[in-house]
Amino acid sequence: MSSQIDHVFDETRVFPPSPEFAAAAVAQPGLYAEAATDRDAFWAAQARALHWHTPFTEVLDWTTPPFAKWFADGELNVAYNCLDRHVEAGNGDRVALLWEGEPGDERRITYAELTAEVKRLANVLTGMGVGHGDRVAIYLPMIPEAVASMLAVARIGAIHSVVFGGFSADSLRSRIDDAGAKVVITADGGYRKGKVSPLKPAVDQALADRGEGAQLTVEHVIVVQRGGNEVEWTEDRDVWYHDVVAAAPAEHEAQAFPAENPLFILYTSGTTGKPKGILHTSGGYLTQASYTHRNVFDLNPETDVFWCTADIGWVTGHSYVTYGPLANGATQVLFEGTPDTPHPGRWWEIIQKYGVTIFYTAPTAIRSFMKSGRAIPNQFDLSSIRVLGSVGEPINPEAWMWYREVIGGNTAPIVDTWWQTETGAIMISPLPGVTATKPGSAQTPLPGISIDVVDDDGNEVGSGGGGLLAITKPWPAMLRGIWGDPERYKETYWEKFEKEGYYFAGDGARLDDDGDLWLLGRVDDVMNVSGHRLSTAEIESALVAHEATAEAAVVGASDETTGQAVVAFVIVKESYLAAHSPEGLAQQLRGWVGEQIGPIARPRDVYIVNELPKTRSGKIMRRLLRDVAEGREVGDTTTLADTAVMSVISAQVK
Ligand code: ATP
Ligand code: MG
Repeated sequence: MSSQIDHVFDETRVFPPSPEFAAAAVAQPGLYAEAATDRDAFWAAQARALHWHTPFTEVLDWTTPPFAKWFADGELNVAYNCLDRHVEAGNGDRVALLWEGEPGDERRITYAELTAEVKRLANVLTGMGVGHGDRVAIYLPMIPEAVASMLAVARIGAIHSVVFGGFSADSLRSRIDDAGAKVVITADGGYRKGKVSPLKPAVDQALADRGEGAQLTVEHVIVVQRGGNEVEWTEDRDVWYHDVVAAAPAEHEAQAFPAENPLFILYTSGTTGKPKGILHTSGGYLTQASYTHRNVFDLNPETDVFWCTADIGWVTGHSYVTYGPLANGATQVLFEGTPDTPHPGRWWEIIQKYGVTIFYTAPTAIRSFMKSGRAIPNQFDLSSIRVLGSVGEPINPEAWMWYREVIGGNTAPIVDTWWQTETGAIMISPLPGVTATKPGSAQTPLPGISIDVVDDDGNEVGSGGGGLLAITKPWPAMLRGIWGDPERYKETYWEKFEKEGYYFAGDGARLDDDGDLWLLGRVDDVMNVSGHRLSTAEIESALVAHEATAEAAVVGASDETTGQAVVAFVIVKESYLAAHSPEGLAQQLRGWVGEQIGPIARPRDVYIVNELPKTRSGKIMRRLLRDVAEGREVGDTTTLADTAVMSVISAQVK
């Protein structure tokens, strides 16, 4: 079957950067040519922005694909790069973290203070017998100790596995066991939606309930006091973070580790199936995280206030909360809570309060703000914002326009950044001072990144064509494997195309006539209607462009006449629900999609629902909706944010 994806949706708006922004921008147009001239030299130059205890002489070793080595004979310490070197350069007094807890408590932590804390914690871990290559699980709320814990693990050459604090004891147990963690760093609890949400009990449960023959690798649990909630205590195993850190020696010299030393394991979101334990290493990862953070967000570490809203339990929190910003010596906001507690303008209030200049969030958040209306953000002064970023899903053009107008004051460039847990850092994105942006397009592979849209055989489809997104050359922050499963690593990513060294991303994309990239959703979700391959993203964007729609998800359900039929699940704005019948709205929306895209894309069914199934990181899980549309039992829901939502949707569909 051809992978060609038909596209009929036309978006023609273009927004070039202002001349002033363009002139002052970090990334200038010449960066593309520089990277194209000599790719290895380009990446070597980026890597040299870091501190190397032992400078590398090799750049890329790709002699045994798909196993890459970057800067292999160089040695560095990741935490030293994020901390000590800024202090040594005289920037110890610069604020690293502007932390705000959900109840409104605040902490400002300088680079000198964060360095001191990480040194002590590194000593604690060493004292517990954690050494080079050992695994440490981190299960914490968004508090400064979370960032400090990641860096302390990195500092001693061990490997962290951060597990999102919202995950259950079961999810935690499977991740602790898969990685064979020796220590768990957790908290009594954290604040969520106005109350303390306990964490320690989940750790206790994960460590207590052992299956037949399952070995317990965890020897110590370090507990941060945050929620103040009562916790049970296991003597000899559990210690308070504040006790052990205070008692630890203050001095700790960062030792050098090889560039390919493993840095972390992180499980993917599980949008398409069982999460995979993605392995990342040190030198290449840190190079690309810091390079992208500087260039894509136009960072000036002396004047900017950066805020990425991602939880550290996701890759975005690894690369654009911990490693990228700290390697670059940035000042950033870290926020514990949810966007709507205690009031729906909390995020905008934080932007106003701290003067956030660069703001990075996900389309799911933007769409939920659209649903409640622009009157809320309009109450706050957002004029400090100069760059806006988006990540996690395709951003619908209407959501993009709203983001630009309401949050960006019609001037801040939007960078729509495409990447994955596996890629480690941003791969496709506009450069804010260079690219004339288009609503809904991620546009261009970054300088130094080679990406193409290809057919099933790996042949380029060319401008105007649609197909599969492939990464055609290795990149520094690329995954080095799936933890404990090299076969699955090869099969999942490297065997799709005949061409050796072509990485299969699992996403569909098209190239417009200018050669710009438009992400079309996951290949697993592409629909085949009467021989036409249609993308979820395009039909969803058409639905969201209708004034009645707040959010939409589209799937292909098997159909006797057309092979597959388009089935849409739509959340309607409250004002419309009151004034229209669901049948009338469904009828209108079917007609609307037919007009916007063409009769072929007209949904067979439109279901008006209250909610959509989303992963904890906010992505729509279409596979579950497909189960509903085809009348099957609903599949694995363990990474769903709200497991009850599927029974509600099933009931609404019947
Ligand atoms: P799993 O691999 O377990 O199914 P996942 O793919 O959702 O989970 P992540 O690595 O968190 O896990 O997400 C990466 C995916 O998110 C990409 O493959 C792509 O489908 C989507 N994505 C991320 N950023 C963008 C973007 N800017 N535009 C379009 N899609 C995006
Ligand atoms: Mg994925």
